[in-house]
Amino acid sequence: MATPGLYEVAMSSDTRIVLAQPPFFRLFGSHNNRGPLELAYLARRLDDEGAACAIVNLDWTDAAVHCTWRNLFTRSALLHAALDGTSPLLYESVERLLGFAPDVVVLAAGDALTPWVDLGNAFVAARLAEMLRGHGIRCVGVGSRFGTAPQTRAAFDAVVDDVFGAGAVATVLAAHETRPWNPAPPLLGADVSGSIWDVTMTSFGCVRACSFCDAAAQPYRPVPPAVFAADVQQRANRPRLDIGDAIFLARGARLSALAEGLDGVGRRPGFSIELSVDQVTPGRLAELAAFGVEEVKIGIESADDSALRVMGKHQHVQQIRTACDRVRDQGLNLTVYVLLGGPVPDPAKAALRTLDLCRSLPADDFVINVWAYNRPGARPTDTHFSGDLVEEYGLTEVMGEFFALQAPAKMSIGRLLDIT
Ligand code: SF4
Repeated sequence: MATPGLYEVAMSSDTRIVLAQPPFFRLFGSHNNRGPLELAYLARRLDDEGAACAIVNLDWTDAAVHCTWRNLFTRSALLHAALDGTSPLLYESVERLLGFAPDVVVLAAGDALTPWVDLGNAFVAARLAEMLRGHGIRCVGVGSRFGTAPQTRAAFDAVVDDVFGAGAVATVLAAHETRPWNPAPPLLGADVSGSIWDVTMTSFGCVRACSFCDAAAQPYRPVPPAVFAADVQQRANRPRLDIGDAIFLARGARLSALAEGLDGVGRRPGFSIELSVDQVTPGRLAELAAFGVEEVKIGIESADDSALRVMGKHQHVQQIRTACDRVRDQGLNLTVYVLLGGPVPDPAKAALRTLDLCRSLPADDFVINVWAYNRPGARPTDTHFSGDLVEEYGLTEVMGEFFALQAPAKMSIGRLLDIT
């Protein structure tokens, strides 16, 4: 008789499946309590098939504050140590996972549904899989960080049984399916680790094609309004939710349909959304404010035209200024995303121009990232907050000025403290 494949094993009724978000921010001495969204959608899928599973967020802690983004940049050596195999967190994680006596462990590396957010590392997942396999546990890898670094996928596949994970993600995204797409809300109840579930989706994928971003490869798929409403309903205890869409495209009839769906929801939360510069018009902002939007995030990325061209961002400085002014004129909270470095003609000059622009913008907060993924010569230790990349791009002198722009608290996670 042929050996059953991983899918057959995973679907057998007495199989214990653990969907794990490995430690990532904890490797830097911080944490990430947000629930791993992709794993919750996978949990729904597995549950629909009759397979029992539990979500374990190994990046969760009981801390009530976060360290600053500056702190993360200065702690890059900690990720080097973890990938050399000496981090106690990796052993601790395996110990916790073994306590569930799983047959199959699905290990995430980033989140394929929100791939623009830096949430994981495929080499960390591979190291965990190596140890778990020593206990006869079958492992699966999912997540965007596998997708953009083929060498990482190869390293992981060397220690796992199957690439079922890639298929599972494709199923959730329905990227390769011919069947009609019929998404259901994520199964938050599968979480056994106290995660905060404050991100909801009204669509998957993106209609844009920025060169640094994994979302560009995903087809755009709007979620049915009733499914969105059911997802908001199951998070009724939260006063505000992040709409995790790449950029929030809903307007006119689609926005009205989403709003009507929410009429049946007990308490309507405030929302934060992401918009591209060209989407920001006064009429649109008024419509979004009436929907319940309280915060707008805009990826301005750079003030340097040559850098913006390489990024595939079709926007200019004056358009960025106008968009930011309009958000504030509407009375909405504004967070600006910046991307420094990368394969652009002159990263240091581009950073100085961007700093000048940022200083003149009416933003409440700035998120300062470095271009880490989807670039030539990417390394396992790359992150959006890599001190190594700051040096490589010649940005050491200017980073302090960018960090000074950052707010001491975020609407989503609260207080930030500089911990040195
Ligand atoms: S707009 Fe660009 S950066 Fe934003 S999610 Fe889409 S492809 Fe990514």
